[in-house]
Amino acid sequence: MSQHLHLEAEILDLRTTHPFVIARGGQSDDRTIWVRLRDRDGLEGWGEAAASRYYGETPESVLSALNVYVSGMPTDPFDLEDTERRWVTTLGRNAAARAALSAALHDLVGKRLGVPLYRLWGLDPAKAPRSTFTIGLDTDERIRAKVHEAVEYPILKVKLGTDRDRRILETIREATDKELRVDANGGWTVKRAIRMLPLLEEFNVTVLEQPLPPSDLEGLAAVTRHARMPVIADESCLTVEDIPPLVGKVDGINIKLAKCGSLREALRMVAVARAHGMLVMVGCMIESSLGITAAAHLTPLVDLVDLDGAALLSNDPFVGATIAGGHVALPEGPGLGVRAR
Ligand code: MG
Repeated sequence: MSQHLHLEAEILDLRTTHPFVIARGGQSDDRTIWVRLRDRDGLEGWGEAAASRYYGETPESVLSALNVYVSGMPTDPFDLEDTERRWVTTLGRNAAARAALSAALHDLVGKRLGVPLYRLWGLDPAKAPRSTFTIGLDTDERIRAKVHEAVEYPILKVKLGTDRDRRILETIREATDKELRVDANGGWTVKRAIRMLPLLEEFNVTVLEQPLPPSDLEGLAAVTRHARMPVIADESCLTVEDIPPLVGKVDGINIKLAKCGSLREALRMVAVARAHGMLVMVGCMIESSLGITAAAHLTPLVDLVDLDGAALLSNDPFVGATIAGGHVALPEGPGLGVRAR
């Protein structure tokens, strides 16, 4: 008799080395959910849900969503397409919860076949671009210290979207001549963004992420027209359906599993963005090496990588993909290739 996969979930208490602050405030909750799917042979697939209040989820909402999903577990982990479609119908708004289940299913499939996920997808891990390391909002002094601590990372991502953006950029530029990318997390107006562009150019900023609030697509188009560096949509682009309205308005999109809700949806986003000649970035939330590794398997397909979520932690419970020196190193074990530390 066929048997449904057994689901278990528990809260992970993560700690960041420094408080992590961006334009819309500090991260108040560094708890994520560890999801395990077990088959009748005792093999387990793992995934992580990085719930974000901004996108309407909390660790508690993930746990209650998973309670609903318990009844929707497949009997066959290879039944990926129908299973994920069913999950979208059951609880479409719980993207982080679905992303954890999706990662766990893919992990289980890889383990059943004895191959790493990137091999299953036919990808060459050597093709992964280097990852940025993020410098969150802070005092000048602490920003300088963070730049120092990030000495091994070749590309820094600078969080802006405050009334002291010029000072932050100056502080970082005084401390390093590394490549800088900027993420305003929707913190600017069109006028402000266009006024910031010459400054960004002066400081050799190579990428500008989400300068404006998510719904201001016409504003994004105006910024992109004025900008010499590529403009990437993050908060404006959650799922594949958000891409067509962004065509011609931004240069690229930032895919995160906690926004799009599944590894298969992430692959669809890569395909659709490519069809429109857009740049593709893969990013993350504050999450452990478990969630980071699921996203890291996509890196050979993308142009820009920002997978520093676990590198910002002081108590990562897992060992998986790493970004030491900015170099994305994928584990060689089957499935996601993640193990407990
Ligand atoms: Mg971003």
